[in-house]
Amino acid sequence: MARDSFIFYREYKEAIDSIKDKKKKLMFYEIITEYTFYGTIPENIDVGIRAMFILIKDKLDKANKSYWNYEDRRSSKYKNWKKQVLIRDSYTCQRCGSKENLVVHHIEKFSENKKLRFDVNNGITLCQKCHKEVHEYEG
Ligand SMILES: [Zn+2]
Ligand SMILES: [Zn+2]
Repeated sequence: MARDSFIFYREYKEAIDSIKDKKKKLMFYEIITEYTFYGTIPENIDVGIRAMFILIKDKLDKANKSYWNYEDRRSSKYKNWKKQVLIRDSYTCQRCGSKENLVVHHIEKFSENKKLRFDVNNGITLCQKCHKEVHEYEG
């Protein structure tokens, strides 16, 4: 399952920091990249590193499932919400002004405020770089 946007999860960063071996560190990056863009996990890779990734990925998937209701995400209501936010923000990142790699971020977290899920005032246009930083800041 490919993701809408590339979020470099704190959990992945912590895992990479904990790996001492430089070659294995790179392998971990390789897995994250392949999984993020293609939704697959490379087979011919160090077993320990692979297992480590799967463990973290499963944990994140579980958390994301409760955070994002998949049906809501695929709904036309969601797509419409996203479009309205983008139009309001003139297809521009509201943090740095970039017009590339845009994502629409929920200001109040989905899981914490279901009523605001499709409220245009609860959405903000960000570029992927700023989006990543916002999530890192939120923790
Ligand atoms: Zn930005
Ligand atoms: Zn977000």
